[in-house]
Amino acid sequence: MDGNTLAQEVLAYLAGEGIELSEDLGEAEKVLRDRLMGVGARVLELHLEGQKLGYEGASRRCLCGERQRFVEYRPKTINTLLGEVTLRRAYYRCGSCKASSLPYDQRIGLGEGQVSPGLAKGATLLGIEEPFELGSQMLYELTGRRVSARTIERLTQKVGTLVAEEESAAAERMKTWDAPPAEVTPERLYVAVDGTMVHETDGYHEAKTATCYWETADGKREARYTVRFASAATFAAFVWVLACRCGLNTAKQIVLLGDGAKWIWDHIAPLLEGAICIVDWYHALEHVWDCGKRLYGEGTAETTAWVTAIENLLWDGNVRAILTRLETQRRQARSPTHREALESLITYVGNQDDRLAYDRFRAMGLDIGSGRVEAACKSVVGIRMKRSGMRWSRTGSQTTLSLRVARMNGQWETLWAKLPLAA
Ligand SMILES: [Zn+2]
Repeated sequence: MDGNTLAQEVLAYLAGEGIELSEDLGEAEKVLRDRLMGVGARVLELHLEGQKLGYEGASRRCLCGERQRFVEYRPKTINTLLGEVTLRRAYYRCGSCKASSLPYDQRIGLGEGQVSPGLAKGATLLGIEEPFELGSQMLYELTGRRVSARTIERLTQKVGTLVAEEESAAAERMKTWDAPPAEVTPERLYVAVDGTMVHETDGYHEAKTATCYWETADGKREARYTVRFASAATFAAFVWVLACRCGLNTAKQIVLLGDGAKWIWDHIAPLLEGAICIVDWYHALEHVWDCGKRLYGEGTAETTAWVTAIENLLWDGNVRAILTRLETQRRQARSPTHREALESLITYVGNQDDRLAYDRFRAMGLDIGSGRVEAACKSVVGIRMKRSGMRWSRTGSQTTLSLRVARMNGQWETLWAKLPLAA
């Protein structure tokens, strides 16, 4: 039978079922999609009914050393991309240790849940991009399949946990300098580190982020990320692992960009031997703006003029002139808030040593802060985690972020090939 004949038969079948297709395309396509998916689910069921799913003979080896005996074919109803499908698969039980197993579930990566791996993959993709409730609605709109917000959250956490644990294990191996293999080998590798606050049930906590980026042979930029809620010392190991994957050990030049926070220079810089340390330009300027606004007010011409003057000195790497100017102004300041504002900028600038030598960095052709540091905070963390009224449990925030990072790092297919639901 060719496709045309089959289509005619489907039309006849639908008419027989009393379904009148509207001439309105929007309505007809929706009715047809749902009906044909229902047929697809039945086809899938029929196809699987004919197989001895997970049958490995009358008995199979048990982990305890004894043998598990085949008991029966057990039914399970699964929510698939096509609809609900009931399948029967071999159930084994060990008379000695009472352990039971369903080899088919293991093999296809089904796990304990009722969602098929195909549908779960789609559901978690929405879960890492959108709030779970919205993800559930979008999934229904796009596929006609219903998976509750709670289930999407549970699936995202389960798969995200696997990623987070793998990351932790890799970071743990830094203790013996057991580096993961390099996936790319750029000549110049940038490592940009920053932190951003996420609202968790017990208050705000810092998600530390690192972006490794480089330029490809055809001039494109590529980036990989890591995000952890961890102390600076612990986070350093995660950055090291990411940097090794991005060619830390073969790169001719390493550039570390930070927002100026001390922990970055103290904990990350020592792991990137010989790295040129740069305070991210936009973060440095942000501090200058903060001070300017406190001195001359928000949005005033004086603020802009004052900031521009400092910015020009900064652009030329003239840190000494900036400090002299700020010191003089502080001595002349009458208001305590002005003195404080100047004091805080003096401390910030004074603490950066040679990490503000923008004239030299520019002459070397280095990126002094493309905004990529902040972009990582926004694109990895902010967009998903910081919506109004959103509060996260610690497990929820780390697993969702780890899974999101896996996707952004191009590891999505590899991850699903490992059958994460059965893990
Ligand atoms: Zn046993």
